[in-house]
Amino acid sequence: MEHAPSQQYEHEIPEEAPALADWIEEELGDIELAQFLRDHPEGLELCANGGSILPRTVFDLEKDVSDVVPEYQYDLRKSLALDGTLPVLTYDRFVGDATQSMKALIEMSHRLEVGRSRIEFWEGESVEKTEGQLAMIAYANDVLDVLRKGHGLDSFTIPNEAIRITDEVFTRNRLNKGEFALFDQCAHVLKYTPWILSHEMVHAKSYAAVRVEKKTEGALAVQAYRMGLLIIESDEPRKEKQGREPLDFLRGLNEAVTEETTSRLVAEMPEDHPVLGEIAQWYHHLSAFMKERKQNLLREWNARPYWITNEVDNLDGTVTYTSAYTRERNLMFDLFHKLYERAPDRFAGKTEQEAEEELFLMLQKAMFTGNILPFGRLFNETFGRGKFREYGHLQENDEIAEFIADL
Ligand SMILES: [Zn+2]
Repeated sequence: MEHAPSQQYEHEIPEEAPALADWIEEELGDIELAQFLRDHPEGLELCANGGSILPRTVFDLEKDVSDVVPEYQYDLRKSLALDGTLPVLTYDRFVGDATQSMKALIEMSHRLEVGRSRIEFWEGESVEKTEGQLAMIAYANDVLDVLRKGHGLDSFTIPNEAIRITDEVFTRNRLNKGEFALFDQCAHVLKYTPWILSHEMVHAKSYAAVRVEKKTEGALAVQAYRMGLLIIESDEPRKEKQGREPLDFLRGLNEAVTEETTSRLVAEMPEDHPVLGEIAQWYHHLSAFMKERKQNLLREWNARPYWITNEVDNLDGTVTYTSAYTRERNLMFDLFHKLYERAPDRFAGKTEQEAEEELFLMLQKAMFTGNILPFGRLFNETFGRGKFREYGHLQENDEIAEFIADL
């Protein structure tokens, strides 16, 4: 038997996601469910039917089917990959112990894992990206593809969901403004930092490789190995290293080339860009200001006027200027200066500025292709056998500065 009042009550429940979200918050007091619906209007039906607030996805189905019929797993994943459901990974190759077929299996399950994690809902994450953030991701994708093409590499798109805008970014025990996590295949970027976003995009589109290793107990360990010029030391066997963290080789140089590439990418941003134009104008204005009025900073920092520089207003009314990876970039240019000085034949007829540009482009190419040979060879031919290896193993900026000064 129908009850008229309840029918009338049903009519009052809004049928559109935003209105239903407001209704849930006001009438039921469930802020979490309301917020979920605002972030996921596509979940309206599930929500109205009382379903789980996280919608079931193709990844859940894959798990269900694989649990029941494990032999279907590989074919199932392959067809998900073929129809474009699984994301393309940014790394070009696997190194290490596993056989080709083992690597293919690992790649497939990594794609599945990354696909699943990209639709996960994170606490403290801004689910909706701003128009500016979306435009910056698209711009960096395009410009970096042009650079990749110039080095004979395929273009690929970093999707919006691989860039996560968060309140906090933790990297190796410290708070940072951004990070590209190669193994997670995603960048974490602090809010309100368009430059950091482009910097992480450069990392994401650099050469990358992962390492597969047989662990002592027979299992396979898969870990990040190369990102641009950076080489991450193997995690195994830990015994030899007495439990210390793996070392990074060429991290400083990789950051220098990455940030220098970012600065150039932003410097070339057109002022008439429909969304980014205002940022481009502000950036060009600050750049001109540094050139005209802050000569002392350019001297003291050995900075370049096209570097992305931030003005920070201090509490006492003074203004501080900062630029990312200033020290690392200074060390890179110090190294170029040494090469120019010590290999005059190699740069015969070239000004120091021309030599510097040639050396930077050599390193930028190596960051995208993963081939450090031309730069490494020039380094060793100039400074002596094994010197590049020695340089690459240095960990601290102070050690690197001392090493370059002694070359
Ligand atoms: Zn970086």
